[in-house]
Amino acid sequence: MTTQRRIVIVGGGVSGLATAYFLRRLGGPDLRITLIEGSDRLGGKVRTREIAGHAVDVGPDAMLVRVPAMASLVEELGLVDGVVTPGHRDAFVWSRARLRRLPPSNLFGVPQKVFQLLRSGLLSPVGVLRAAADLVLPRRRPVPGEDLSVGELLRPRLGAEVFERLVDPLLGGIHAGRADLLSARSAVPEVEALTRSSRSIYLGTRARRVPVQAGPALVGLDGGLTHLIDALTTASDCVVELGRRVDTLSRDGSEYLLGLRGGGIIEADAVVLATPAFATARLLSGIAPPAAAAAAEVPYADVAVTILAYPRDALPRELDGTGFLVPPSEGLLLVGCSWLSTKWPHLRDPATVLIRATVGRHGDTRFTELSDDELVERVHGELVLTMGLTGKPVEAIVQRWPKAMPQYTVGHQALVDRIDASLAEMPGLVVTGAGYRGVGLASCVTQARRTAADVLDRLGAPQAAGASA
Ligand SMILES: Cc1cc2nc3c(=O)[nH]c(=O)nc-3n(C[C@H](O)[C@H](O)[C@H](O)COP(=O)(O)OP(=O)(O)OC[C@H]3O[C@@H](n4cnc5c(N)ncnc54)[C@H](O)[C@@H]3O)c2cc1C
Repeated sequence: MTTQRRIVIVGGGVSGLATAYFLRRLGGPDLRITLIEGSDRLGGKVRTREIAGHAVDVGPDAMLVRVPAMASLVEELGLVDGVVTPGHRDAFVWSRARLRRLPPSNLFGVPQKVFQLLRSGLLSPVGVLRAAADLVLPRRRPVPGEDLSVGELLRPRLGAEVFERLVDPLLGGIHAGRADLLSARSAVPEVEALTRSSRSIYLGTRARRVPVQAGPALVGLDGGLTHLIDALTTASDCVVELGRRVDTLSRDGSEYLLGLRGGGIIEADAVVLATPAFATARLLSGIAPPAAAAAAEVPYADVAVTILAYPRDALPRELDGTGFLVPPSEGLLLVGCSWLSTKWPHLRDPATVLIRATVGRHGDTRFTELSDDELVERVHGELVLTMGLTGKPVEAIVQRWPKAMPQYTVGHQALVDRIDASLAEMPGLVVTGAGYRGVGLASCVTQARRTAADVLDRLGAPQAAGASA
């Protein structure tokens, strides 16, 4: 008689579901996989809602398919036919009372061509000269074990203007973070590695430029990213328990016991915590206090996404890009704005223009004091200011995401190392998710694949040949 291995995953966001999927693919049909989700829906931050007759994403709306694990997942799940690519390449930055074109081909705000930077008007001529100093400055001498903030790393090389008008807004858009607090090593590892391998950041970024034929880096799904969630749920063939919050985790010999809110215990041979780091900290507090203490230190930023539908004639002119970012120094609530109708061709509509505005970043919680109606009014006012809109929205939705964006602040890698060291003593207990090794969907999927292989390893379970991470 064979005993089925019981694996319980806590958290039904993309990390938990992708882990279930890879466990099934690597471990085969005999695994008993249960996924427990505290809310009444799967997807976590992935959520698609309706506005003006269109299905729009109110959490992530783009997948980085340049990451191999993400690209192959989309293929394996049969989602390729629904993939949509951005209808435009250009984006803007709101700076000094104008929308200014973002110089193309930049890596986290590091411009690759000084002339394009000059033409964009984003920097003053002095700022451009200062940025060009990177070409002649001596190589940075890294100190072993150092963990610099993005600001400490890039400001001395590229100057204050690149930092404030390019790097900080881009990091706001991706991490809802501030470049002076985020760790370069954890938040922008490619840039940090460049400063070690290359004397100049410009020359280094130009040498590593991704070939144009590689296709778009970011893609969406027609009908929204919930299709990814649905496909993962079906393919992982696991038992899903919705609306059941795990409150406690303990161990009895080699067995884990998960205590559910409202009563009930679930037994498992292995447990994957795919919850945000602060929730994971609570679950680990009784069983792995050092890991719990480290996970509790990962800060999270509150954000909100507002989608507004405007009549087409509210636009003063045709939109010629995917949207714009706003540096914190501009003082607006807006952090970023996507022009959905030009960014995603499937959302084009002859009568209506869809605009997605994101507010909130680490240290800026002003929006949390506003009601939904007040937030829509403020966002509309800022869109009038930045885009010159002349009409009012005919429909709007607000999606609040409290404690949504993990901040990889200076020292983040040390926290992850402390969690790993503490859990190394717990066979069959692992953590995964956006709180640790990459905030985007593609990083969550990459981690999920490793997590699944790791769990099977720790259980001594056989893995499908050629399918390992
Ligand atoms: C507004 C916004 C825009 C974004 N845009 C992009 C983008 O365009 N591209 C991109 O790649 N990334 C983007 N991201 C990041 C990406 O969405 C997230 O990193 C990713 O979805 C996180 O997935 P996760 O499964 O790790 O966590 P989550 O999605 O947070 O899932 C965790 C789940 O655990 C559940 N849970 C928590 N505690 C318990 C408990 N005790 N018991 C049971 N269940 C529990 C929660 O209910 C939740 O469903 C964006 C994020 C936000 C907020």
